[in-house]
Amino acid sequence: MPNSGAPTDLAEYQKHIRGRLKTLTPVFAKAVIGDFSSQVPIPKEEDELTEFFVGVQIILDTIREKVGELETSLTDLHAANNIIASEKARVEAILDGLGEGLLTVDDSWRINYINEPAIALLGDNARILGQEATQIMRLEDAAGKLIPEAKHPVLRAIGKRRRVSVDMTKGAALYVRPGSGQERRRIALTITPILRAGRVAGAAVVLRDITEESNIDWAKSEIISIASHQLRTPLTAIKWYVAALLREEEDLTPEQTDKYLQRVYDANQHMIELVDALLNVSRIDLGTLTLLPKAVKLEVTLKEVLKELAVEIKNKELTVDVEVNHEMRPAFIDPNGVHIILQNLVSNAVKYSAKGGRVVVALQQQSQNALITVRDDGCGIPADQQRKIFTKLFRASNATKVATDGTGLGLYVTKALIERAGGRIWFDSVEGSGTTFYAIIPSKIA
Ligand code: ADP
Repeated sequence: MPNSGAPTDLAEYQKHIRGRLKTLTPVFAKAVIGDFSSQVPIPKEEDELTEFFVGVQIILDTIREKVGELETSLTDLHAANNIIASEKARVEAILDGLGEGLLTVDDSWRINYINEPAIALLGDNARILGQEATQIMRLEDAAGKLIPEAKHPVLRAIGKRRRVSVDMTKGAALYVRPGSGQERRRIALTITPILRAGRVAGAAVVLRDITEESNIDWAKSEIISIASHQLRTPLTAIKWYVAALLREEEDLTPEQTDKYLQRVYDANQHMIELVDALLNVSRIDLGTLTLLPKAVKLEVTLKEVLKELAVEIKNKELTVDVEVNHEMRPAFIDPNGVHIILQNLVSNAVKYSAKGGRVVVALQQQSQNALITVRDDGCGIPADQQRKIFTKLFRASNATKVATDGTGLGLYVTKALIERAGGRIWFDSVEGSGTTFYAIIPSKIA
């Protein structure tokens, strides 16, 4: 029973209690909208509701405290999230900046991370995560055949639970295509299984584009093989004639001795030309050729070349006409490079002309370009072999009969030099009637 202001009957008592509880309405109204800061109006004098009111106050205080703690944790969590996000961005930037491609797969070999260099190698489709690595890393062998899924290095590494590497020295050559119609790239691969609690949880795959390296490697071995094959013939000739000259019982006439010495000289000359041509080829193929374009007067270089070829021209009784257009401007090209170009074109015209033939060399200015024309009335190039003429080591079937000492390297070098200068080379030829080579070289823009 209340100990103060005792109601006279039940209705009065209910009214009193309602009145007391009403004082809580603003407290609950605030609590509903998340504000637990109100103070419960606890009467100074204790009554039957005092305990309840105190209880409500304790609940409010506890909630306020917990909400405060939660807010602090949430702020900490946000801060941690921000740190993780910026750390992730930093790591991704580092991984994208790596020269190497990197991707990771889960235990069902689905890609769950891929960096930009890997996308550049595997194509834009690889950007979509969750795809199977075997579908995205479609590997081809040297012959262009697709590596079957069962032999895919990613599955092999996961299956064997150990690292699998394929590079220039280990394993068969592997290629990928960055997109349809794009040139394939040779790659080196390292797949490292990720082990967690003793079981394979996925794998990290590192891919490296080794196309350039492997091209250079191939070019190097090709140059060595060309050199050893091509030098054999003149070396064998020299050995044979020198042996004959040294054999006392041979009893050579002075004419024979002269002839043999001339053969030794010719073979030696051919070797010098071969070595020069091979040096140029190796510089072009290995990318070590340094060209310094300058303004070059083509008529001056042409004069030098004709002087060098004067003996051959005289021996073959050729007529060489030079036509230089008076508007000629300097060409913009490496001086040594243009010497090699003119030397190859004019010496070919001389070499493949019959005795008493005519060679015409014309230099013309065509707007921003110099046009070089070298025409001869020699053996010509058979129509069915014309498409191969700029290929390394190619010599047409009729040329090998006319001149035995060719290398098949001159036009390959000439074309590369002209193209490096921003020019173009082509020809017209009729077998038995003659050939005209055309070369365009940009002039220096004044
Ligand atoms: P080579 O040392 O054999 O002349 P090149 O690379 O200079 O090598 O030329 C390749 C081939 O192109 C020659 O072997 C020859 O078949 C053909 N060729 C080049 N120039 C001429 C030409 N003026 N007339 C006929 N054939 C030519």
